Parts: sequence; structure tokens; C-alpha cells
Amino acid sequence: MNIRAINSKSTGISELKISICHLYPDLLNIYGDMGNILALKNRLKWRDIEVEISEVKTGDRVNYKKHDIYFIGGGQDQQQIMASLELQRNKEAIHKAAVDNDAVFLAICGGYQLLGHYYQPLEGDKLIGVGLLDAYTVAGDTRFIGNVTAKAKFLKRKTIVGFENHSGLTYLNKGTKPFVKVSVGHGNNGKDKTEGARYKNVFGTYLHGPVLPKNPEFCDYLISLALKKKYNCDIPLLKLNDDIETFAHKDRINAKY
Ligand code: GLN
Repeated sequence: MNIRAINSKSTGISELKISICHLYPDLLNIYGDMGNILALKNRLKWRDIEVEISEVKTGDRVNYKKHDIYFIGGGQDQQQIMASLELQRNKEAIHKAAVDNDAVFLAICGGYQLLGHYYQPLEGDKLIGVGLLDAYTVAGDTRFIGNVTAKAKFLKRKTIVGFENHSGLTYLNKGTKPFVKVSVGHGNNGKDKTEGARYKNVFGTYLHGPVLPKNPEFCDYLISLALKKKYNCDIPLLKLNDDIETFAHKDRINAKY
């Protein structure tokens, strides 16, 4: 029986489809964060789930009714200035997608900082965020660079690995859940052992890598959230051969550099 038939048999839905929106690839797309879009696309296609990928670039409007997963990558302070202005223009649509429609968001580093209330760089004006995550970021005088291993209780494997490269120090306001807890590396601020933040289906993290190929279970977790939100039922994902991803993951556990 082919995968599409399995999907249909288990859900009664003949054609599963997920729409992904890549926010500002023209502004925030460093450290290979594009690999996260490829991981989502391939892990959906390998399960014969149709994928549509759209880009929202400078000047574009976000169609909050259209997409199931939103991705925004990292960037230097300079690119973040433009991205901050652009995100303000789409603030209402982004909130409607995340808060009203429970869309899945994955925001990396600079993109993560701008989902909070603001990012205050070392020089220049405060960059206003969209306030989707109840957190704020201020520039530190040290750049955190290196591998990160974190504890992820919501995953069977219990670990998440990645690579951090940021000078911003992010602080979660009271009641805001961290994404994971750091065991090796710095995470949000190098002090409180938190890494990233989560609100509903919105995930912010400092982890480059890219994070999803090295953590296939987390990638599938996001896919499952998006399918459940769209089709109002838990859709079992076909098990894939993750030998290469698992090797990459294990190779980085507790590795400082
Ligand atoms: N410019 C921000 C910082 O240095 C984000 C960097 C990034 O996206 N890697 O903290």
C-alpha cells in the first residue's frame, strides 16, 4: 500500500498538504538556517505529504489564513533593522496566525529576538519586535559561539543539539516557558540555563546548525503540530530511516567545539 493510501486510511483524508511560509529570506538567512526549510520539506515529501513553500520578502504582506508553518532565520544586527520594520507592518497578521490560528512558528536567533518585545543592539536604536514571545533582548559584550546541548523533556530522545552565535542576551518575562534547558553552551543569556522560548505553537531558539536536520524528532514534532492544527486529528507519521541524522546528533552531544 503506498504512503498516500496509508495517510488516507489512517485519517480519511486523501490529500494531506502543508503550506510553509519563509519570512524574509532576503534579510534573515545566515548560518545555513535555510536547512530547516529543506528538512521540513523533505520529511513531509518522504511521507508523501504535499508541501507548498512561499516566501514573504521585503514589502510583501503575510496572508495569515494561508500557511501552516512559518519560519524566520537569523541575521546580523544590520539586517535585523530592516526585518524589524517589515515585521511591524505584518504584526497583526503574524499574531492572527500564531494566536488565533495556532500556526507553527520556528524562529532562529535574530528572527527569534524579533518575535519578542525588542532587541537593543550595542549601538543604535532599539529594534521593536512583534511581541509574540513575552521576552526581550539586550546586546551583551561577549559573543556566544559554540555547540549547544540542551535537555528537551518533550522529546523521546530528551536532547536537542545546535550551534549558537549571538551577542544578544534574551530574558524571558515571568510565565514565559523556555524552549529547552541548556546543559552545554550558553543559551538565552548564559546565566539562567534557559534556551529559546515557547508560546502555543511558537518556538524561538538560538540554535543554528541548522537545528532541524540535527534534531529530526523535533522536526517531526513541528510537522505533527501543524497537521493536527490543520486536520483536527493526530496524524501518525511514517517512521523514516534517520541513521545519518542520528549520527550527526550524537556526534554533537556535549561537544563544546
Ligand atoms: N544579531 C543578533 C545577535 O548577535 C542575532 C545574530 C544571529 O542571528 N546569529 O545576537
